[in-house]
Amino acid sequence: MTQHIATVGGVAVDTRHWIGGERVASPTTFTDESPIDGRVLAEIARGGQAEAQAAADKAAAAFPVWAATPRAERARLLRAVADGVEKRLDDLAIVETSDNGALLRSHRRGVMPRVAHNFRFFADWLLELAHEDFDTRGHTNRVSWNPAGPCVLITPWNAPLMLATWKIAPALAAGNTVVLKPAEWSPLTASLLADITAEAGVPAGVFNVVQGYGAEAGSALVSHPGVRRISFTGSVPTAKHIAGAAAANLVPASFELGGKSPLLVFADADLDLAVDLAVEQYDNAGQVCLAATRLLVESSISEEFVRRFTAKAATLRQGDPRDEATDIGPNIHARQVDKIDGFVRRALATGARAVIGGGPNTDLGGLYYRPTLLSGVAQDSEIVQEEVFGPVLTLQTFDTEEEAVRLANDTPFGLAATLATGDRARAERVTSRLVAGTVWVNCFFVRDLRAPFGGSRQSGVGREGGTWSFDFYCDLKNTVTAPKGWQDH
Ligand code: NAD
Repeated sequence: MTQHIATVGGVAVDTRHWIGGERVASPTTFTDESPIDGRVLAEIARGGQAEAQAAADKAAAAFPVWAATPRAERARLLRAVADGVEKRLDDLAIVETSDNGALLRSHRRGVMPRVAHNFRFFADWLLELAHEDFDTRGHTNRVSWNPAGPCVLITPWNAPLMLATWKIAPALAAGNTVVLKPAEWSPLTASLLADITAEAGVPAGVFNVVQGYGAEAGSALVSHPGVRRISFTGSVPTAKHIAGAAAANLVPASFELGGKSPLLVFADADLDLAVDLAVEQYDNAGQVCLAATRLLVESSISEEFVRRFTAKAATLRQGDPRDEATDIGPNIHARQVDKIDGFVRRALATGARAVIGGGPNTDLGGLYYRPTLLSGVAQDSEIVQEEVFGPVLTLQTFDTEEEAVRLANDTPFGLAATLATGDRARAERVTSRLVAGTVWVNCFFVRDLRAPFGGSRQSGVGREGGTWSFDFYCDLKNTVTAPKGWQDH
């Protein structure tokens, strides 16, 4: 008999789908391994067309009642989910770390508390979402946000629950039902979240999880004609497939994609701060869409910058992400490490120099890649133009502000940019010229859910956060009412 419960870090995780408030198995499974040591964590139900159809049916059936549920009640249930996340914070943290290799200490202290916050934030926002009334020649316009219907959410492995709940919370708050397809390399916390929603009292069919591969479960879900919204976070090639499926059914879709963001360091910057910002880009072993992987440093300070950067990077400890003292864990999968190493080898073969790193950490073996900085890279080379998604930074220098902006904007992406400068006027000038959804000045990774988040060009379509999330997950309606025609007039 197939075992449906896996024990991961001492936590029981159901390996089946969650469809219509029930656990559902599939005839076949796929293997989920830990990037920490390659250990098999679980055999996960491998969904496809049938499971996608079942989940879409259940989400459609649950939609009318959930959409009509008073806002206060929906908000109460989302807050109960947040409470449940907090109650199981340690379980979620250890399971996520075992599954995707990101640091346990960040999951405990940063990521999982934010997962809970995502639910509370959108519950609060829902209650404040006001009808906008305005007058046109005595007629009243009333703009209202109406739930759109079943939403398909497809998410990646680098911050699985965090990124999924940026979508789940507003979609549910708005009155939609949801089918989530988590990444096959990190499927476990989605299953725990299903348990938490059930315990919180979220009605059956409102939140569903279909496990499986992108080309099977994911593809079947995004092509389903009953879906009213698709929200995707992941890579550009996958986004293009999904955009095609969404276009075929005329379904609004949002895309949060990759990046090749710059960190611009001007000679007037606080250099230690700039170095800290640069070294921070190795967080999560470089598997962060927002990572400023291109260091653009003013020539006059570049030597000193490299000296301090190298010293600081040497203090980073690489190892088991469950260990409190570890700063950099493993990359997610052997395929990903091969990809990272391929980029680095080709760069080195075409004239780049490894200032630090430049290959896998052979002391640790497996999936641990040394934090790497490459200099001598050409602007049009693939290492500068393409997303590596590993702990690999490039170093380039510039002589003028004009050149810095030109280099910063010269990739197909436009997700984020970071500036280190001591000159406010320069910060404003440069910021206004950068193509990026988020610009950080003398800081990095500060994120407020009230602000729009997303990318330009190949980094995405649409914005998430606050009102932008509700605009996406709702059908907006304007009701125009005349002053005449009433029987009591
Ligand atoms: P990916 O595109 O390979 O996979 C993402 C998800 O899409 C997975 O769940 C996968 O199963 C699914 N999928 C794959 N093919 C599919 C198909 N044909 N139809 C439907 N679903 C399909 O991306 P990844 O490797 O998991 O994630 C890394 C990428 O995500 C990087 O490019 C990174 O920059 C990006 N990312 C972006 C953000 C952001 O907010 N902009 C955040 C995190 C990650």
